[in-house]
Amino acid sequence: MIIVLRKDATQEQIDHIVERVKKLGLTPMISKGVERTIIGLIGPEDVLRVTPLEVFPGVEKVMPVLAPYRLVSREFKPESSLIDLGRGLTIGGKKVMVMAGPCAVENKELLWEIAREVKSAGATVLRGGAFKPRTSPYSFQGLGEEGLKILKDVASNLGMVTITEVMDTRDVPLVVKYADILQIGARNMQNFNLLREVGSTKKPVVLKRGLSSTIKEWLMSAEYILSAGNFNVILCERGIRTFEDFTRNTLDISAVPIVKQLSHLPVIVDPSHATGKWGLVPACSRAAVAAGCDGLLIEVHSKPEEALSDGAQSLLPERFKELMQELRKISLAVGREI
Ligand code: PEP
Ligand code: MN
Repeated sequence: MIIVLRKDATQEQIDHIVERVKKLGLTPMISKGVERTIIGLIGPEDVLRVTPLEVFPGVEKVMPVLAPYRLVSREFKPESSLIDLGRGLTIGGKKVMVMAGPCAVENKELLWEIAREVKSAGATVLRGGAFKPRTSPYSFQGLGEEGLKILKDVASNLGMVTITEVMDTRDVPLVVKYADILQIGARNMQNFNLLREVGSTKKPVVLKRGLSSTIKEWLMSAEYILSAGNFNVILCERGIRTFEDFTRNTLDISAVPIVKQLSHLPVIVDPSHATGKWGLVPACSRAAVAAGCDGLLIEVHSKPEEALSDGAQSLLPERFKELMQELRKISLAVGREI
């Protein structure tokens, strides 16, 4: 914490502040400049939460040095986190993890067909929603537990890891029972009870960025999960709301290097929900790998025109296969592999 004093701060005011912070167990480091004086504080800053230094006479402003998302920050953990996804897969290292599959689990035959295709193209994680956050209550809401069973069954037969969304605190034990990775959707990024609940498990959690959330808010949400004891968090940029309406959302590609700078957690990109258009998914995937993401979450459907959700943004398996070839070249160019 740094206290910047007013130009006209008196010695008496400075002494008063120094005396108070010392009493709180902090060590003040005074730096007198030509223009003004600043006091740096060393020690556990938590005590300052109940002592608003801003109101002390002579104080102009108080600036935190450490990020408010402590556990998530690189200051707390300088080396990048490697997260074990199960079946020998790790995210956060050299390998870019590709998670692919339909938006929703619709039926077993279809999931089989899509899963076999994405697996043979090189995807290691199978996605598929069983609880779907739909804008309309009349749209397909997912198959619930039946969907979770199908997802688990298909993935284990193919030796894949699964990711699926959990929307409600009451469903966490059920989803934990079937899935390898829990997904917190964009709409629930600030559902703090849900964040605490998944934080009380040990499962890897993909935390999607909220529709209109800043990077700081997103990292604070991750902090909820880590502070509840679960350090296995993967951040997912999936586009944000802007004035641009050509695309479903606007992919904030700069979030990738920013998050890598600020946090030790892996970051993945979902180009499907970011764009809403399958034709834009390949270019955005390539850009994400070039920007340094640790993984991709891509919607693939073998009959997009019949998909119960998000057909318009789903890649056909053939196009997904081609994309994987393109991504291999890009990952090599940036010192990664797929
Ligand atoms: C999804 O991945 O199916 C989904 C609903 O994503 P988002 O929460 O990013 O909209
Ligand atoms: Mn979807």
